[in-house]
Parts: sequence; C-alpha cells; structure tokens
Amino acid sequence: MNQYAGMSGTSRNSTVACDLRSDTVTRPGTAMLQAMYQAELGDDVYGEDPQVNRLEAELAERLGKQAGLFLPTGTQSNLTALLAHCGRGEEIIVGREYHVHYYEAAGASVLGGIALCPVPVRADGALDPAVIAGAVKDDDSHFAVSCLLSLENTHNGLAVPLSDMAAAAQAGREAGLAVHLDGARFFNAITDLKCSEVDLAGLADTVSICLSKGLGTPAGSVLVGPVDLIAKARRWRKMLGGGMRQSGVLAAAALYALEHNVARLADDHTRAATLAAVLRDLDVGAVSQATNMVFFTPSEGRNDALCRFLADRGVVIAGGSAGAIRLVLHRDVDDAALDRVVAGMRAFYG
Ligand SMILES: *Cc1c(COP(=O)(O)O)cnc(C)c1O
Repeated sequence: MNQYAGMSGTSRNSTVACDLRSDTVTRPGTAMLQAMYQAELGDDVYGEDPQVNRLEAELAERLGKQAGLFLPTGTQSNLTALLAHCGRGEEIIVGREYHVHYYEAAGASVLGGIALCPVPVRADGALDPAVIAGAVKDDDSHFAVSCLLSLENTHNGLAVPLSDMAAAAQAGREAGLAVHLDGARFFNAITDLKCSEVDLAGLADTVSICLSKGLGTPAGSVLVGPVDLIAKARRWRKMLGGGMRQSGVLAAAALYALEHNVARLADDHTRAATLAAVLRDLDVGAVSQATNMVFFTPSEGRNDALCRFLADRGVVIAGGSAGAIRLVLHRDVDDAALDRVVAGMRAFYG
C-alpha cells in the first residue's frame, strides 16, 4: 500500500473537525506559538541560534549521543545520515517497506551514488537477523560494499520490541555495518515499549526523529549521533540546501514539544485502541492497531463512499479506492473529535 495515496487536497473544506490522514497535520497550539514568539534567535548557519543549539544538545543528551543536528524535515534528516555514513559504490541494507527505501525517492542513490538493498520486513515490523546476514555482500569486486543497516521504529505504527531491534543491529554489526535508526516516531515507540530513550537509541549509531508528527511542531527533525558523523551530516545539510538561519523559531516549538507533548502520546495510543475496538465491533472489515495508527480494510470496499460520507460530517480520512485505510490519531483529535469519527462510522455501517 502507499500510505500517502489519496492524501492531498481532501480537506479544503473549512468545516473539518477531525483529520485522521496523518499526524503530520497537527498544528501548533497557542502555548507552542507563544514559545516561538518569545524565542531569542540567531543565525544557525553561524552556529549562533540559542534555541537550535539547545535543541540539538538536549536531544543528543536524552538519547545518549554526542551531538545533534536540526534539519527541516525527516526525509532530509535520514538523507544526511545516509550520506554521512556511506559513499559512492557502497550500499545500505534496509527494509523494503521502510520509509528510507520506499518513500524517499531514492535520494541516497540519486545524490550519493549509494545503492539501496531492500530486504523483506516481517509482519511485526522487524528485520530478520538471518536475512540481514544473508544480504551482506562478500568483499568481491562484483559487489557493492555493504556499509550501513537502516532500521525503522515505529513501522506502520508497530513498535518493534527492543530484543528484535537488538538482534537486527547485532547481525549488522557482526558484518561490519554501521546502524541508522529512522525514528520518525521514536517517542511513540518508546511510549509503547515502556523503555527509555537511551534503551532504544543505544542500539543505533545515528537516530533521526521527526518533530512535526505527534509532537506537533510545524516543521523539523533532529539527527543525533557521534560528533564526526554529525559534522559530516552538517556539511551535507548545507549542500542539500537545508542550512537555515533564524530556525530557532522552529527549534523553540520543538523544545516546547519535548517538554509538553511527549507524555500525552499515550493518549493517542489509547484513542487508537478505542477506535479499533469500535471498528471490530461493527464487524465490517479487518482491523489492526498499533500505537497511534489503525488500519481498517472494509470487506465490501466502498472506501470512496465512506470517505465522502465522513467528509460530510467533518471527518477527513485518506481516500483510495480499495484496500486498507490508515487512520492516525494525534494531538488535534480529542475525545469530542473521536466521538464524531465513531458516530460517522456507526452511521455509515449501521
Ligand atoms: C514521516 C516519516 C519520515 C520523514 O518524513 P518527512 O515528511 O520528510 O518529515 C521518515 N520516516 C518515517 C518512518 C516517517 O513516517
């Protein structure tokens, strides 16, 4: 499935009460805007923005890494990491359905001459250690040079257990690979796994985190890792056009989010479980749920009709003519908005 299918242009309706397409639709609330408004700013390309410096240092420390780098998007965060780890003719072993392989337009190959070696993702979201070992190439001039293992957590909302993450990372390390973690929803993962930041981040050399999903900032991502790799990533960020100036206005939003929006991710997971239970109760299709995501596959199809029916009631879901519908809970969906979704589903199928 393409998780981005049917996403754009479906919520121009100003009466939208609830948008379940993605947690990227979250908008900054008053208190976050206040923090942005009050932020003392500087030029981050000169290393002089106090908010950016604080954010990079704070996330690095929380995740047990030496350094951090603030970037405009999660995609650029992953890309700079891949470019910092690997050079031309080297390859990255990555889950076939992981974002780095499937949804980032092969940027590492286009811009870095890096090969992507996709391997199957297990139903639980993890990579199999034996599959990783089998994908690593021998030192032979016919082959690309295996360089990096790129993991993801959460994947399709699934929080991959620490033991599976550790087993995959170990398989990579035994073959001499470095390890990157695409932790776009890192805080959803540790909330679900009930582990510390360091427990999960410690399994990888570099970790990228999105600030503009469940954490609710308007934009931004942070990459953390060892000093030398982050220095390389900083140079790549400049080359990619991602060196921003008074970006502390965004970093201030992120610092606010790290303080106020992490603990509440558990509420999104609870609401996702509630919605999944309602859909299962209606018994009109296959339902799965993990962290803040629900996947619903209506058995009779009619996805477009459902989409239009809900839109008339102020509820926006991703369109698409058939297959699984992804419903994502986030901080702009409160209990009243969830009630509206539930009422809409019951009315459509009732
Ligand atoms: C959203 C996401 C990213 C980065 O996306 P951007 O839209 O560029 O911020 C990377 N990996 C995963 C798994 C994601 O869900």
